[in-house]
Amino acid sequence: MAKATDFRYNTGATRVPWAAVGENYNVNDLMEIIRFLMQGEGKEYEDAIAAVKEQVAKLDAVSTPPGKLSLGSKVEGAEEASNAYLGTDSSTFVTNATAGFEIAYKYANLKPGDEVIVPAITFIATMAYPLSIGAKLVFADVDPVTINMDPADVARKITPKTKMIVPVHIGGYPVDMDPIMELARKHNILVLEDAAHAFGAMYKGKKIGTIGDFAAFSFHEVKNITSFGEGGIATTTVPGFKDHMKRARFVGMDFSHKIKDWLYDVSAIPGKEEPFVAVNYSTTEIQGLGLSLQIARNEEIIAQRRQAAEYLNSRLAGNPALICQDLGNEDIKPTFHLYLLQIDPEKAGGDVQTFKKKLEAKGVTNIPHFGPLYRFRVTEQMGYNADEIAKTCPVCEEVFYKRFTHLPLYGLSQDQLEYMADAILESIAEMQAGK
Ligand SMILES: *Cc1c(COP(=O)(O)O)cnc(C)c1O
Repeated sequence: MAKATDFRYNTGATRVPWAAVGENYNVNDLMEIIRFLMQGEGKEYEDAIAAVKEQVAKLDAVSTPPGKLSLGSKVEGAEEASNAYLGTDSSTFVTNATAGFEIAYKYANLKPGDEVIVPAITFIATMAYPLSIGAKLVFADVDPVTINMDPADVARKITPKTKMIVPVHIGGYPVDMDPIMELARKHNILVLEDAAHAFGAMYKGKKIGTIGDFAAFSFHEVKNITSFGEGGIATTTVPGFKDHMKRARFVGMDFSHKIKDWLYDVSAIPGKEEPFVAVNYSTTEIQGLGLSLQIARNEEIIAQRRQAAEYLNSRLAGNPALICQDLGNEDIKPTFHLYLLQIDPEKAGGDVQTFKKKLEAKGVTNIPHFGPLYRFRVTEQMGYNADEIAKTCPVCEEVFYKRFTHLPLYGLSQDQLEYMADAILESIAEMQAGK
């Protein structure tokens, strides 16, 4: 049987080929993967494993190994699935969303002292790169209902040094992109969408991640869908940049062109003002396969999450102290990555800290995961003053410390959903009764 050959040289079936290392996987390796993905113990499990192993050995005898394990047809397949789903042609499968953001930041030729406007409430990954190179983070205050970046505050915080605006679609609820894009065009600023939670969300008939100049989605294991634990899709609307984006993923390597007596060329990636050097964010074929399988299920997953959110809203809407997750409308279609629940402290007779303790005591896990970024020590260590910044983000301070929490929407039985709704209503009733 002809051996799969190493991708770089593609020597084919020669006397001395550069064999692909992918052929080294064997029946035992595959059984370990099956044991990992389908875990268990006990006699029944071991008997089932032994039966499968026997069949896998038969399969091994009549099959060939994959040969390619990185950046091959499965990665391309995932990108095509993402393109078809999003209505773009620029999907580039990278190691994670944070890597996708880096490509955009590098395209902007971001330098120390350049300003980047991020929402006050997000995950640290949104701003990790600009923070790491000494660019200046400017924190936009948030909308009190969605806790997304408030476009009016973005407008107030733009200066001649602003190079990028980074809207984050928190919980998969689309940011109001029109005013953000208008500001950006007016001031020649690039927009990077942090779409980590928002694969499949829609804004005014367009998929989130196809509106800004760049975007990246996350397929980390905690998001709506995953590519075996890690992964991201980066997209761009910058004319002519999509092929460069692929090279930006893998050290700028260019197989379409060769230098003398060499197999390929390497060139810098064109940035907005000057070229930049690419590093390596390559993904594996297994991740590509995993992502394609999950993209096919994405709509069904969003629909299930939506149903759970609708149920919670129907149960919670009666109590005026509870402000439910906004379910969207014709123009705004969220992915329901999280259930954002807010309370009105005056009507509840206490703030969210008390409420969260009551929920925890009833066994309902709620995660105040997304908080004011300027409160982290790393921000202080990089020279920022949290209390000064807090004064410029009053809504963020109010909603984070007094009003909101996040609840899970997926993988719950109807019983668990009902229990959660009961626990919320009981907790708020206790607070209202002064208990
Ligand atoms: C998870 C997350 C990211 C980072 O995604 P990775 O794929 O893990 O790099 C970025 N932004 C937000 C808001 C996130 O929740």
